[in-house]
Amino acid sequence: MSFYHCHSDPECFVFYARIVARRPGAVCLDKSYFYPGGGGQLPDRGVLRWVDGETAVTHIEQAEGRLWHCVETDIPSDDVIGVIDEQFRSLMCQLHTSLHVLNAIVYQHFDGALVTGVQMSADGTARIDFDLPRADNQQLRDIEPELNGVILADLPVRALYVPAAEAEREAGLVRSRSVAPPRQENDMVRIIEIEGLDRQACGGTHLARTSQSMPVRILKIENKGQRNRRIRIGLVDDAI
Ligand SMILES: [Zn+2]
Repeated sequence: MSFYHCHSDPECFVFYARIVARRPGAVCLDKSYFYPGGGGQLPDRGVLRWVDGETAVTHIEQAEGRLWHCVETDIPSDDVIGVIDEQFRSLMCQLHTSLHVLNAIVYQHFDGALVTGVQMSADGTARIDFDLPRADNQQLRDIEPELNGVILADLPVRALYVPAAEAEREAGLVRSRSVAPPRQENDMVRIIEIEGLDRQACGGTHLARTSQSMPVRILKIENKGQRNRRIRIGLVDDAI
C-alpha cells in the first residue's frame, strides 16, 4: 500500500492540486486526499472543480503507484480544487471504527476468531465475516450492549507505524485470515490502536475517538458455510 495523504491529514476535505497525467475519463493529481477504497471501505466521493466547472469523482483506481480519479467529464484545466464529500467519509469512518470495536470484542470473547471478509455500504450498514465454526448466534447478538458501551466510552483511536517484522511477531495484530497487513513503502505496517481495547493492522480511515460514531445495532447474524458467521451492523441515526 502506498502512502495516502488522507492518513496523515484526515481532516483535509478541500485541496488544490495539479493534474499530472490524463487518460480518457480519468486524471492523476500531484497530490490527493481522496481515500481510494480498500479493506472493505468504499472510496471517497467528491468533485474536482476548475474555474468555471466541476465534475464528480465516480471512482478511484490504483495502478503502478498512482491514483486515477475517474471523472464524468473532461477537465479543461490543469489546476483543480478537490472537494471530498465529508459526510460520506464520516459515514465510512463511523462504520469502519465500529467494525474495529466489534472485531476486538469478538476476538476477545471467541478465542481469537479471525476475520474472513468485510464490506461497508453507503446506506450506513456493514457486514463482517468471522471464522467462527462453533459460536452460538445468540451470544453474538448479545455483544451489542458492549459494542455501544465502548463507543460511548470515548476511547481515543490513533494510527501508528511499526516495522513489518515487529508487526508479524505481535499476536493478534493481523486479524484477517485472507488479507496481508497493509505495508507502507518503507516496509512499515500501519496499526490502528483503540486505546485500552485493541491494535490491528489496517489501511483505512477511522474516527479520532469512538464516541464520534452513532450507536450501532446488530441487524442480522447469518451462517455462511460451515465456518463463517456474518454479522451485519447498522448505524442508528436518532434523527431519522
Ligand atoms: Zn480499519
